[in-house]
Amino acid sequence: MPEEKKVVRKVIKAARDGNKFMADYYYELDNAAKTGERKVAWCTSVGPAEILRAMGFLVYFPETHSAMLGATRMATDLIPYANALGYSPEICSYLTADIGAYVQGVSPLAKAFKGIQGPPKPDVLVFNTNQCRDVQDWFAFYAKEYDAPLVGIHTYVGVKDVTENLMPSIKKQLEDMVEPLEKVIGKPLDMDEFKKVVGLSRECSDLWKKVLDTASAKPSPLTFFDGTTLMGPAVVGRGTQATNDFYKILLAELEERVQNGEGAVENEKFRIYWDGMPVWGRLSAHSKLFASHQTNVLASTYCNSWIFTPLDAEDPFTSMARAYTELFIVRSDDFKEEYINKMLDFFGVDGIIYHDARTCPANSNCRYGMPQRLSKKTGVPHLNIDGDLNDLRCLSDEQTKTNVEAFIEQLEENK
Ligand code: SF4
Repeated sequence: MPEEKKVVRKVIKAARDGNKFMADYYYELDNAAKTGERKVAWCTSVGPAEILRAMGFLVYFPETHSAMLGATRMATDLIPYANALGYSPEICSYLTADIGAYVQGVSPLAKAFKGIQGPPKPDVLVFNTNQCRDVQDWFAFYAKEYDAPLVGIHTYVGVKDVTENLMPSIKKQLEDMVEPLEKVIGKPLDMDEFKKVVGLSRECSDLWKKVLDTASAKPSPLTFFDGTTLMGPAVVGRGTQATNDFYKILLAELEERVQNGEGAVENEKFRIYWDGMPVWGRLSAHSKLFASHQTNVLASTYCNSWIFTPLDAEDPFTSMARAYTELFIVRSDDFKEEYINKMLDFFGVDGIIYHDARTCPANSNCRYGMPQRLSKKTGVPHLNIDGDLNDLRCLSDEQTKTNVEAFIEQLEENK
């Protein structure tokens, strides 16, 4: 068995700018909630943020709050409070942790940002079921609690080819949400502003893709674990200039690292692709575990989920319909296999890890034989690990460590 060593993981300097961005974002929301000067819309992470931003809403994303509950390891103790209200321990642990935090009146924002008590109160809640049905139930809970309107888009699932005939229904739903939103904000949607926001969002997507693509360099300047926090501005701030400014700084740093041959993991030996959700409460532990074996988990479907290449400022509604339907999570297994296959090639991957997240079947792709089919086709070995995004009762650290070490040993033998 490979011996665990201390390996230096290079710190990304631009992460400081990312943290500042997130702090500014939450303070702006908090100020809006306290003064009532701006209206706040809650939005799902791959929901129609561009429309909301163009209309003048500040946009809050409960999933990032719940990821913080996971990362701060508050989530596991809070989940039972949502279970007591009838939300099963088997459904999304973002939902259960977040509702548990609400019931208990606690928030990781209060720990991270002085003066902030918790999430801003919503004036409207907007979901898109492209990722799962749980988001609808999650938002419905808060719509009732806050007596705020709930607006949603219902998208297709298991899509093999994103054809033109799928677009009109989604486009119509996007257009139909404008009127109820106008009632909340008290002014009409300005189409020029909408186009501008969609253009900025597309630029954000292009920059984020370039950032993630730097991991194809050998050694990779980036790890998946870095990516899960660096993606914060793309999730909460797409459609703004400040977000794009941040990614330009980050990209320049990573490109410089590539030029200098500086890897994120010292003496990178093995390159791994991660499929599925991160285990938020174990980001640091997992990062250290892999790095200690000179292994870099460098690419993932998860971080790629905020790439929306079809966005087009000249055709905002249709291009949004397309962008939010082309997402990996919405697609058929045939498409997903082909997609991961291309990623393995592009990133020069030695092995794949599939995270079977107990409470997120939508983002766990190892339950219907995909790992076996892909490994047979590509010769790239895989490992499935049991766990969860937020509920730490669903994973065994010992088991994960043993399995990961055995997997790296197998990679060693393959070399
Ligand atoms: S995709 Fe998974 S983690 Fe995200 S909201 Fe849905 S069930 Fe929860």
